[in-house]
Amino acid sequence: MTILRRVLLVLAIAVALPYLWVPVYRFPAPRAFSGSALWNPYAQLHGTWQLANLHAHGRSWRGLTNGRQSGADVVRAYRDRGYAVAGLSDYQRLAGHGGIAALPIYEHGYNVSKYHQLAIGARRIEWLDFPFWQGPNQQQYILDRVKQSAELVAIAHPMSAYTAADLSALTGYQLLEVVNGHFIAEDLWDAALSSGHAVWIVANDDTHDVTDPQRMAVAWNMIDAPSGDTRDVIAALATGRAYAVSGNGEHKDGVDAVLTSVDVHDGTLVVSLAGTPATILFIGQNGSVRKTAELATTASYTMMPQDSYIRIVIRTPNTVMYLNPVIRYDGVRLPSPVATRDGNATWLQRTLIAFGCIALVPVLWRRPTTATTM
Ligand SMILES: [Zn+2]
Repeated sequence: MTILRRVLLVLAIAVALPYLWVPVYRFPAPRAFSGSALWNPYAQLHGTWQLANLHAHGRSWRGLTNGRQSGADVVRAYRDRGYAVAGLSDYQRLAGHGGIAALPIYEHGYNVSKYHQLAIGARRIEWLDFPFWQGPNQQQYILDRVKQSAELVAIAHPMSAYTAADLSALTGYQLLEVVNGHFIAEDLWDAALSSGHAVWIVANDDTHDVTDPQRMAVAWNMIDAPSGDTRDVIAALATGRAYAVSGNGEHKDGVDAVLTSVDVHDGTLVVSLAGTPATILFIGQNGSVRKTAELATTASYTMMPQDSYIRIVIRTPNTVMYLNPVIRYDGVRLPSPVATRDGNATWLQRTLIAFGCIALVPVLWRRPTTATTM
């Protein structure tokens, strides 16, 4: 019993230590976008769209986290389908540094609740995580740490862990994987946008097997970059110069329309596409549909004073295209709310948890004889 107790004690302290250290944050109050100017992410397009997937798994960690094929085979499968950017995002591992020519990405997270992030343009691996419970403070601390290791942080498959309340409070992530395979979480994106977080959409397969038709070339990004090089792709993603696509079938034979432009003049948005006529939706604060145009290859919408942002969704027979929002702002820069550390609350929490750990020691470290002589 003594050994079991001592193992339990050590485990308890190992689990408590990161919780002991995590700061307590003050989260910014939700504030809808406002201002007289309109930010249009598509104002200056290069017109060269790079087809990209940013989330795929090769075989790694001796098969413990399962990708069916090797990283090189995964990259090749995407290249064969015409992808300019074939992202390989193994868990806690930078495949791009292992000799595979791919955008440097890894997927961070090894917790039971599946709070995962894509570290895009990563320079190193962030190893800290909270394997069990995560509250807003733990989630924020992880986002901040992952950001220190990479150019951009995308919250991966938010539908499997994060709530609307989480996404309207958290800061420090630039992208949201609104489309993950066939799973779509527009409501979570609207929760973030409606609270004043200018975060951009990404759509990815998250494939673990390139022969699985449900997870291969079914969700992709069109990134307006002069080339598929890391620097160009990251610059475009950082400013929202991209759109996300969810397909009924494979990208290869599924594309029946592409975006050509989004223009904003005197408060009116005009969107145009090339290809089959589509249903075009204009969506605003809290996900409310502000206007729908049927069988159109161009459509317009005039921003109302109460419209904090407008994002466009284009439904064709084969695909759904999700465009980044046109956002109200002050004409200088987009707001970037930041969760700040509450110093006093942080030290109070650290002290309480430290006392809790110390109190565990005599309970678990006493000799069995003490118990039997009672
Ligand atoms: Zn994941």
